[in-house]
Amino acid sequence: MATQKILVIEDEMNIQELIKYNLEKNNFVVTLADNGIDGLSQVLGGDYDLVLLDLMLPGLDGLEICKRMRANKKTRKIPIIMLTAKSEEFDKVLGLELGADDYMTKPFSVKELIARIRAALRRVDTNEDEEIPEEINENVQSILTYQDITIDKEKYEVKKSGEKLSLTLKEFELLKMLVENKGKVLTRDTLLDRIWGYDYVGETRTVDVHIRHLRQKIHDEDESNQMIETIRGVGYKIIDEGDK
Ligand code: CA
Repeated sequence: MATQKILVIEDEMNIQELIKYNLEKNNFVVTLADNGIDGLSQVLGGDYDLVLLDLMLPGLDGLEICKRMRANKKTRKIPIIMLTAKSEEFDKVLGLELGADDYMTKPFSVKELIARIRAALRRVDTNEDEEIPEEINENVQSILTYQDITIDKEKYEVKKSGEKLSLTLKEFELLKMLVENKGKVLTRDTLLDRIWGYDYVGETRTVDVHIRHLRQKIHDEDESNQMIETIRGVGYKIIDEGDK
């Protein structure tokens, strides 16, 4: 494997040094940035395999960098592991939703950090040559409809009874995948794998949180008459109108 380059955006010198020393010992090439603005310009101008990103940074904070990396074609797929201090209020779901791949709370074990880095790099490798298995449908039409909901896949727009809904990207993808596979149960693992791009071991709750938000937005909270049905212990399906 070619040498892999890691950018560490972290303002605490002792943590920077600890990470740099240990990563270099494990044959990674390490570049350091100690504030958010330099960090972002390095990541946009460089060629990194992974970014370790502190949450609280002078200049730009970690969430903002994460968001901007995900909005940029060049950096969209670079894995991000967020580093957060225990004392910091960190909304993990928000971090993951903005596109972080993983997060670690300081103080962390160097051994675990390296294991997570390797895992994130492996996921990039496998995602690149992964083909979508046939059992998951992907409709080629750009407009999908389900009851009074219209999903425009090109514009990333969802309307209910003609009224535009503001869904996050993950909520959009969840709804689209459920509708494309209506009547069929999609397991949490499948949804995580397809929408988040890899398995968060033990983090399938992420799916539940997003489904809950999605249900609120599409007004699907009446449990006696739900479009999105919870299949306990398994996953979710959207009811096929034809089965009703
Ligand atoms: Ca910090």
